[in-house]
Amino acid sequence: MKTALITGITGQDGAYLSELLLNNGYSVIGITRSYNNSNLSKLKYLHIHDQVKLEECDLADIPSIISLIKKYKPLEIYNLAAQSSVGLSFEQPIGTITFNSISVLNLLESIRIVDKNIRFYQASSSEMFGKVINLPITEESPMHPLSPYAISKATAYWSVINYRESYGLFACNGILFNHESYLRTENFFVKKVIKNSIKIKKGLLQVLKVGNIDLKRDFGYAPEYVKAMWLSLQHNIADDYLICSGNSISLREIIYYVFDKLEIHRDRLVSDEDLFRPTDIVDIYGDNAKAKKNLNWTYNLHFFEILDRLIEEELTNFNTN
Ligand code: NDP
Repeated sequence: MKTALITGITGQDGAYLSELLLNNGYSVIGITRSYNNSNLSKLKYLHIHDQVKLEECDLADIPSIISLIKKYKPLEIYNLAAQSSVGLSFEQPIGTITFNSISVLNLLESIRIVDKNIRFYQASSSEMFGKVINLPITEESPMHPLSPYAISKATAYWSVINYRESYGLFACNGILFNHESYLRTENFFVKKVIKNSIKIKKGLLQVLKVGNIDLKRDFGYAPEYVKAMWLSLQHNIADDYLICSGNSISLREIIYYVFDKLEIHRDRLVSDEDLFRPTDIVDIYGDNAKAKKNLNWTYNLHFFEILDRLIEEELTNFNTN
C-alpha cells in the first residue's frame, strides 16, 4: 500500500486531500502540531477522521521529522501546514515567516538525508507575485511579495527549487490561487461573507463589516485544487504549476451575489477602516494552461456556481447546528 504523509491535515486542503488519497488507495499519515488539541472537525465532516493516522510532530524539530519518515517510509509528502492568513501575518510577521519557511527547509533536508526518492509537494501561493505588472500571471511572472505571508511563501518556494536543482529531489510547487469550500476557516473572506450574511438573514447580526472590497482575486474550488496537488506528484518530471481558475472577480461582486441570493439589502454592508491592510494586491488572476496541459488537470467552474454550492451547504449545516 502506498503511504502519503500530509502536514496541515486538519486544514481545509488537508481534509480534501486526505479524502482523495484514501479514495486512491493510500494509507494517509497526518502530522498535527498537538494531538490533544487537534481540531478534527474538517476530517469529521468528511467522515474520514478514523481512516487517517495522526502523528504529533513539531515541524521546527528536524530529528522528529526524520524519525517519522523512517517510521512510515512515505512515497509522497504533501506540505500544507502554514500560518495561512495574509491578514494575520501583518500582526505576527516573525512567527509567520519563521514557521512557513523553516518547516519547509526541515522537510526538504529530512528527505535529502533519509530517502531522496520521496516525492515532495509544497503549497505555494499566488500572493508571492504581489505587485502585479502583467496579467494573467504565469509560472514565469516576476515576484514581488506584499505581505509577511507572501515573503514566507516565496522563501519556501525557492527552497523547493533549490533542493530540486541542487540534489535532484522530486520536489514541486503548486502555486495556488484562492480556493474555497465549506471547510474554509472562518476568518477567510468568502466563508465570512456567506456565514455572516446568513446570520443577517436570520436576524442574528446587523451588518457585514468589510475592508477594501474593490480588490479582485482569482477564486476556485478546493476539492478540485487538491486533485492538482496529487497529479503533480504522479508526473514523471518534477515541476511548478499555477493552480487557478483563470479569471478574477471583485470582492464587492461576491458580496452582492450572496446578498441578492439571500435577499439582503445592500445597506447592511459597512466599511470598516480596521479591516484594511497596509498593502494589498489590487487585481490578480492566473493562466492555468501549463497544469491543464502537463497534468491533465481539468477545471471549468465559474465562481458563481461555487457560491451557489457554498451558500446551500452553509444553510444546510446552519439549520442543523
Ligand atoms: P488552513 O489554514 O485551513 O490550514 C492550515 C494548516 O496548517 C492547519 O492544519 C494548521 O493546523 C496547520 N498549521 C498552521 N500553523 C501551524 C504551525 N505553526 N505548526 C503546525 N501546523 C500549523 O489552510 P488551507 O488548507 O486553506 O491551505 C493549505 C496550504 O495552502 C497552506 O500552506 C496555505 O498557505 C496554502 N495556500 C492556500 C490557499 C487557499 O486559498 N486556501 C491559497 C494559496 C496557498 P491547526 O489545525 O493545528 O491550526
